[in-house]
Amino acid sequence: MIVGAHPDDAEFNAGGLMLRYAEQGCAIAITCLTDGSAGHQTQPRKDLAKRRAQEAANAARQLGAELTIWPDADGALQPTLARRERLIHEIRVFAPDLLITHRPYDYHPDHRAAAQLVQDACYMVRVPNVVPEIPALREDVVVAYMCDFFSLPQPFTPDVVVPLDDRFAAACDLLSHHKSQVEEWLPYTLNEPGGPDWLEPAYRARASSIARRFAGGHCELAEAFQLGEYGRQVGNQALRELCLLDPITI
Ligand SMILES: [Zn+2]
Repeated sequence: MIVGAHPDDAEFNAGGLMLRYAEQGCAIAITCLTDGSAGHQTQPRKDLAKRRAQEAANAARQLGAELTIWPDADGALQPTLARRERLIHEIRVFAPDLLITHRPYDYHPDHRAAAQLVQDACYMVRVPNVVPEIPALREDVVVAYMCDFFSLPQPFTPDVVVPLDDRFAAACDLLSHHKSQVEEWLPYTLNEPGGPDWLEPAYRARASSIARRFAGGHCELAEAFQLGEYGRQVGNQALRELCLLDPITI
């Protein structure tokens, strides 16, 4: 289960991992906590929300993933009690083996709010008197954070690195569904020319930077995840297994 603030966060940060799950027939749930309606330089919110819902649905279809987009406005996500309860409900219903979300130290207020909501839901998913209409889980969910490069108050420290080399083209395909972002909005925010040629080099640069920092020469392109401290604590080998990677033998 990937809980992102916006309709493209799951694909940008865990596209390769989701492709691995899809190949093995694992159930995937993508939950977007806002409608993505702020992410465009010219398109009004209502039209953009509709467009992004379709883009996200197309990406989810490629993966065979369940997609849920909350109606909350992009750019205004708050970690309220009502949203915490909705998230507890959704986590209990899907009961993920692994839940991936943003770190709470990211640049985007919606990402930080999403991280806070997951942290706040973590222990409560096991408390039967909280959201009593859905049976509580019997153990904590394993939570992992997506990679970012912010360093304060704590830098991202990966517990698992997932090679992306073999699935980079497929992950690009997945991201290319989000045309409003990867051809229009994201290049605009970087003052770069948009269009269909923006995605591949930009995404390659990110995946390559993750590999250079964290993969120790094992791959050229990667995604990385850090175990969250409020979910169930598992060792690195168990986390690798949850990411469908072979154990490291020394
Ligand atoms: Zn986002």
